[in-house]
Amino acid sequence: MDCVFCKIIAGQIPCDKVYENGAVLAFLDIAPISRGHVLVVPKLHFQDLAATPAETVSAMMDALQVIAPAVLRVTHAPAFNVGINNGAAAGQIVMHTHFHLIPRIDGDGLQSWPHQRYGPEESAGLAKDIAAALR
Ligand code: AMP
Repeated sequence: MDCVFCKIIAGQIPCDKVYENGAVLAFLDIAPISRGHVLVVPKLHFQDLAATPAETVSAMMDALQVIAPAVLRVTHAPAFNVGINNGAAAGQIVMHTHFHLIPRIDGDGLQSWPHQRYGPEESAGLAKDIAAALR
């Protein structure tokens, strides 16, 4: 399969590994948003979050919780963002599901996403539609 993360997991491409267990590999992002930016990747290939079994997502989150304090200790960052680019329109480039762990420090200049406002009644209708779609 032509997947860069599968190749890293198979040892065919090098990575700066920080953590590994039976289900998950974590390594430094090659083009970090901040110093210590880590990718948490399941060892099995799933295209996106929807395709990833719950136990694998759980293993990814468990690994993230183990890794995050170590990243903060080493980078001296007091905080971090966890991100998932899920689907091409959301910026997913590597179609092998993964979490981004991005250390943050005050004044690091990284912008948060811009917020919008709902029109009158718009949010109530939208929430109702989403709740109905869950039934
Ligand atoms: P995404 O946009 O969520 O698919 O992010 C994919 C991430 O993988 C990007 O931040 C890339 O910098 C990173 N990446 C791509 N190739 C490699 C590689 N060989 N080693 C480490 N990180 C990589």
